[in-house]
Amino acid sequence: MKFATKAIHAGQSPDPTTGAIMTPIFQTSTYTQAAPGKHKGYEYSRGTNPTRTALEDCIAALENGKFGLAFSSGMAATETALKLLKPGDEVITGNDLYGGSYRIFTKLFEPYGIKFHFIDFSNPETIREYLNEKTRMIWVETPTNPTLQIVDILAVSKIAKENNVLLAVDNTFASPYLQNPLDLGADIVMHSVTKYISGHSDVVMGALVVNDEELYKQLFFYYNACGGTPGPQDCFLALRGIKTLHVRMKAHCENGRQVAEYLRSHPKIEKVYWPGFPDHNNHDIAKTQMRDFGGMISIVFKDTSIENTFRIASSFKVFSLAESLGGVESLINHPATMTHGSIPKEVREKVGVVDNLIRLSVGIEDIEDLLEDLKQALA
Ligand SMILES: *Cc1c(COP(=O)(O)O)cnc(C)c1O
Repeated sequence: MKFATKAIHAGQSPDPTTGAIMTPIFQTSTYTQAAPGKHKGYEYSRGTNPTRTALEDCIAALENGKFGLAFSSGMAATETALKLLKPGDEVITGNDLYGGSYRIFTKLFEPYGIKFHFIDFSNPETIREYLNEKTRMIWVETPTNPTLQIVDILAVSKIAKENNVLLAVDNTFASPYLQNPLDLGADIVMHSVTKYISGHSDVVMGALVVNDEELYKQLFFYYNACGGTPGPQDCFLALRGIKTLHVRMKAHCENGRQVAEYLRSHPKIEKVYWPGFPDHNNHDIAKTQMRDFGGMISIVFKDTSIENTFRIASSFKVFSLAESLGGVESLINHPATMTHGSIPKEVREKVGVVDNLIRLSVGIEDIEDLLEDLKQALA
């Protein structure tokens, strides 16, 4: 099946008792058993729930993976993947990560005795300098947040395989529509389902997708044992959102392209980060591993003062100033004080997350209104 068909049908079939075309919201914590252990595959909803199963199968299908697991947030998904690690293990990860990932790596898992190397993945060969017998996982985010750098997943996966190291990819920014890391050799795909996959800014949820059955069983054990699993209403909303993922993504990419080009020629803007520009440092990799370039854009103002940035960030009429991304509505964000506020200033500035940078999540409103809004806010 092709992507658009999977987005609408994968994991879902009409309800056998009523013919309802939509997967019912199975609002139940438990399931009756005819005799102890004799049940229809469902025992208790921390472990499994039919609405959640439909969502997990759908997301797995979109990632060309065999097994999906849904979580109550993207961070719960990330945390579960990191539970594969033991004290003494080492992880190689990017120096331009989602702030919340950086926070649990350094504040939660480092005190448990796991070491993280935060590196620049722009040349994957750099990974070899940090590999040793303790390396157990490589954690990649691409495009990165907020500077939209592209990591060559295939090149990283070759190094991971040679060295028997797990490769996990946070695919939130691309969504399964733009990029499928398992096809490029990744072992684990992580999503903040909150963002493009759900797409309507009305749920917080996460997911992991894998192909290897042993890995799935291990992750399922943590998922069921620790219980960061979502309720059926949220799973229903995510499933509903996914049905238009392909249509929304096309619109995000098209609006993103026009906004990026407009901003690039604006006299008050120093730099525009967007992987669709032919002179973006990893444009060639973006072109081969992604279907299109997405609607995430970061801009740096020529005026370096935070006062100027705050003034502009507060003067939009169609864009809203808010954390998060990937919804139908356009958002702006000030990473230095919002999404990346938990990263020390000297650490974030090294990778370009300066006070005069703002990130745009270009929505799917009419492009003329978006360009008009940018024009008046930047005036
Ligand atoms: C939002 C986000 C997360 C965390 O997901 P939540 O659903 O907010 O817990 C992780 N990675 C990236 C890239 C994100 O944008």
